[in-house]
Amino acid sequence: MKSELLHAKLKESFGFEKFRPNQETIITTILSGQDTLAIMPTGGGKSICFQLPALILPGITIVISPLIALMKDQVDSLKTNGIAACYINSSQSSDEQQFYIDNLKSNNFKLVYIAPESLSYLDNVFNELTISLIAIDEAHCISSWGHDFRPAYTNLGYLKNRFPSTPVLALTATADKATRVDITKQLNLKSPKTFVTSFDRANLSLEVRPALDRVKQIIDFVENKPNESGIIYCLSRKTTEELAEKLSKNGISAKAYHAGLDNTTRAKTQDQFINDDCQVVCATIAFGMGIDKSNVRWVIHYNLPKNIEGYYQEIGRAGRDGLPAETVLFESYADVIQLQKFASEGLNSDVQLAKLDRMKQYADAVSCRRKILLSYFGELVTENCGNCDICKNPPTFFDGTILAQKALSAITRLQESEPLAVIVDFLRGSKNAYIYEKNYQTLKTYGIGADISWYDWNQYLIQLINLGYCEIAFHQHNKILLTSFAKKVLFEGEKVKLTTVVKKVIDKNEIKQEKAKTAAKNSLFETLRKLRYEIAKEEEVPAYVIFSDASLRHMEILRPMSDEDFLAVEGVGKAKLEKYGADFINAIIEFQRNKSVVKKEKKESTYAKTLELFQNGHSIEEIAGQRNLGETTIVSHLAKLYVDGNDFDLSQFVSDGEINEIRKAQVELENPNALRPYYDYFEEKMSYDKIRFGLAFLERKHQTIK
Ligand code: ADP
Ligand code: ZN
Repeated sequence: MKSELLHAKLKESFGFEKFRPNQETIITTILSGQDTLAIMPTGGGKSICFQLPALILPGITIVISPLIALMKDQVDSLKTNGIAACYINSSQSSDEQQFYIDNLKSNNFKLVYIAPESLSYLDNVFNELTISLIAIDEAHCISSWGHDFRPAYTNLGYLKNRFPSTPVLALTATADKATRVDITKQLNLKSPKTFVTSFDRANLSLEVRPALDRVKQIIDFVENKPNESGIIYCLSRKTTEELAEKLSKNGISAKAYHAGLDNTTRAKTQDQFINDDCQVVCATIAFGMGIDKSNVRWVIHYNLPKNIEGYYQEIGRAGRDGLPAETVLFESYADVIQLQKFASEGLNSDVQLAKLDRMKQYADAVSCRRKILLSYFGELVTENCGNCDICKNPPTFFDGTILAQKALSAITRLQESEPLAVIVDFLRGSKNAYIYEKNYQTLKTYGIGADISWYDWNQYLIQLINLGYCEIAFHQHNKILLTSFAKKVLFEGEKVKLTTVVKKVIDKNEIKQEKAKTAAKNSLFETLRKLRYEIAKEEEVPAYVIFSDASLRHMEILRPMSDEDFLAVEGVGKAKLEKYGADFINAIIEFQRNKSVVKKEKKESTYAKTLELFQNGHSIEEIAGQRNLGETTIVSHLAKLYVDGNDFDLSQFVSDGEINEIRKAQVELENPNALRPYYDYFEEKMSYDKIRFGLAFLERKHQTIK
C-alpha cells in the first residue's frame, strides 16, 4: 500500500498526521503478510501497528493481551474513533462473552481483544471467521526469561500452526535478546522481521534529587501542577499510605495503591485516577501496568528503584501522549542500604546486586543521564540530551583532596567502626551524647570539619564512597570501612576531585510561579480540559479517550473555529470531528469572546483613571508621570474619552483654526484614518497631539450629526 494512502488512513481514522518511528514500516511489513516482532518502548505507539492494518485488511484482527483493564480502554478509544471493536475476558459474564462471540460471526467487528485464558472460547467460531492478523501484545509474557511470565501465553504457539498464512505481530517493550529469541521460537513465527525502536523518550525530563525533606519537596512540586496527574512510586506499602495521607492533608487529591488493599479499593482508585478524579496515586510497583492513561504528566520515585529496567518502565508511564512530562527520583543513602540488604538476601543475589549498582551509578551520574539509560539498553548516544538535570546544571568540580583527607583520617581515628552519621558528627565536632559516651571528643581530628554543614559532609562522604575510597559494611551495622585506595589519598598525595553540593532552591521565583498558575487556571486549555471531563463522564470513558492532552494543547494553539480547522488538530479524525467538533469549537469561540470582554473591561478602567486625574486638574504630563504611561497614551485616552461624550474643553489643546485645517486635510487625504498622512500633509508643522484632538473633535461632531 502506498505511503500516502497509509497516511490518509492514519489521519482519517486516528487523526494523526505522521507516523511515529517504525510504525509505518511495521505496518507495511504486516500488510505484506510477514510475521513481525516489534520492540518499542512504553508510549512508543504499539497499538497503531495493529489497529491500522486491522482497518485495511478484509477480516478481523485478533489482539491477545494479558491486561484486562487495558482492553476496555483500548476498545473505548477505538469506538470514539468510530471503529467497531470488542473484547472478551473474564471480567464479563459468560452470557456477555457469548454475545460477543456470536456477533463476531456476523462480522461486525474489525478488532477483538481477548485474554489468552479466554482464547479457547473462540475455538468453535474460528472456522467461520476470516482472520486477517493476530497481534500478541506484551509478547514477553511468553518467556520465563521475562519479568511478567504468564503460563497461558505458552499455549499461543498453536495459533501459527492453525493459521499458517495469517501474519502474526508480536509486540513488547522488553528488549533483551534472550527474551526476543524465546518469543520467536515459542510463537512459531516464520522468519519474522524484527524492528527495534529507540528506547529514547525525549519528552521525559530526568532529574535526581537528594532525599532531604522529600515530603516537603513533593508537596511543593505537586502544588505547582494543579490538575496534572502523577504517580509516586514507593518501596513499601506503608510509605504509600503515609505519603497519600500527608498529601491529602495538604489539600492534594491523593490515594494509596498497593497489593495489600482489597480488589474493590484498588479498582476504585485506579478508576478515579484514570478518570481524572484523583490527581496523585502513591503506589508500589504494582500500579500502572494495566493502564493506558496517556496524560500522566509526571512520575516521582520516592525511593530508589531496584534496577534500571523497572525504573525506565515506571517513568515511561508519564507522557505517553508525547507532550513534555517530568520525572524525579529521590536518592537516599538509607534506601541504598536497605535495597542492598534485600538483594543480597534474595534469589540470584549477584545479578540483583549488580543491577542495583547500575541503578546507583545512574543516580550518582555526573554526565548526561539519558546517555547512561540508553547505553544500558544497548543504544549508543553521542549527543547530550539537554533534558536531564545534569545537562541543565552541569556539576562543577573542585579539588577536594583536603576534604577527602579529613574524612578518611576521621574514619581511621574511629577505627572503621562507625556509620556515616557518626563520622559526620565527629568531623563537625558535635557535642552529642554518643560522641561523649565513646569519648570521641578527645581524639585527634575531632571537629576538623566544623566549617562544613551536616548536609554537605553527607554528600561529600557519599561521593567518596562512590569514588571507591571507602565502602559500607552492610552486614556490620553499616559501618564505613576504608578501601586500599584510601592509602593513596592519605599517604601518597593522590588528588581527589569532588563536585560542589548543590541544594535545590525551590520556589526561587514564587511570585512568577503564582502568576503562571493563575494564568494556567484561566487558560483555554483549562476550559477544554473541563469540557473533556464532562463529556468523558457522560460517556463513561476516561478523559484521555475523548482527546489526549496533546490534542487539547494543539487546539489551544490552533484555536479552530470551523470544522475544517478542527480537522487539522492532532488526534482529530473523521469520527471525532463529527462527535465532538461542535462542542469544542463552541467552547473555543465562547472563550475568545469572553477574553475580549475582559480586555474591554480592563481598557475601560484605564480610561476612567485618566479621566479622573484630568478632571482633578492634572496636566497630561503629570498624569503620564503618575500612571507610568507615555504622554501619547494619555493623549489618546483623552481623545477617545472626548469622542465617547465626556465633556471637557478641547480648545486648550487645539484651536478652532487648526481644527478647520484638519477638516480640509481630511477631505483631501487618500488615507484619512491614520495620523501619519496628516503629519506629512502639514509638513510636520502640526503636532501629533493636535491632530489627534482635532480628529476627536471632528469625529464627535460627525457622530452627533448622524
Ligand atoms: P504503547 O502501547 O507502545 O505504550 P500506545 O499505542 O498506547 O503506546 O500509544 C501511546 C500514545 O501515543 C497514545 O496516546 C496514542 O494515541 C499516541 N500515538 C500513537 N501513534 C501516534 C502517532 N503516529 N502520532 C501521534 N500520537 C500517536
Ligand atoms: Zn542529559
